[in-house]
Amino acid sequence: MENQISILLGPPGAGKGTQARMLENQFGLVQLSTGDLLRAAVAAGTDAGKQAKAVMEDGDLVSDDIVIAILRDRLGEADCAKGVILDGFPRTTVQAEALDALLSETGQRINAAISLEVDDGAMVTRISGRYTCGGCGEGYHDSFKQPAKSDVCDTCGGGVFKRRADDNAETVASRLEAYHAQTAPLIAYYDGKGALQSVDAMGDIDAIAKELGALVALATA
Ligand code: AMP
Repeated sequence: MENQISILLGPPGAGKGTQARMLENQFGLVQLSTGDLLRAAVAAGTDAGKQAKAVMEDGDLVSDDIVIAILRDRLGEADCAKGVILDGFPRTTVQAEALDALLSETGQRINAAISLEVDDGAMVTRISGRYTCGGCGEGYHDSFKQPAKSDVCDTCGGGVFKRRADDNAETVASRLEAYHAQTAPLIAYYDGKGALQSVDAMGDIDAIAKELGALVALATA
């Protein structure tokens, strides 16, 4: 069976990370988040991380060169051979074209590009309330998804939680602007290739996961 490559498109706060994690568990795919890779580079103080830090804090997009290099390295690692869910990449047409070139070198193709459709108005609330378990990365939200037992992660039992530095109202506005200017055109890009699917992502997390799972299963059947 060929590798499965699915892309989740959608603005910040649409639920790409949450849903990618669920798909990862369901299908044994690897969630590949350029945001996570960049945050790790910033934390490790690599050259790429140093260049990306201020850009990320401002809610702008990190340069295509840096992101494509990070993505290419990660995609080449052995575990990605089982297939990947791309979360937050591509975010520009240059990145989408680079991904096409990269995949064609290895005889792979995109199985599905799924757009998570949400209302901009709800994004600030969604993003400013979210946090994750520092141990296993499980996602939570002040209003929508708290751990069953306060301050204890449902998944790993850890008690340390973290919030992203860029999940604040001012940065979210820039991130939404960057999305509409630079990333939203990718919806037409993938539609033109016959690979686009759309999902209403305003509802219940599990219901959305079910719908997405069905699309990924269909696209990779
Ligand atoms: P995310 O975790 O996907 O919300 O990404 C957090 C931040 O990392 C974004 O606001 C950008 O500054 C940067 N970033 C993540 N992925 C990309 C990408 N594909 N291209 C450019 N910048 C990115």
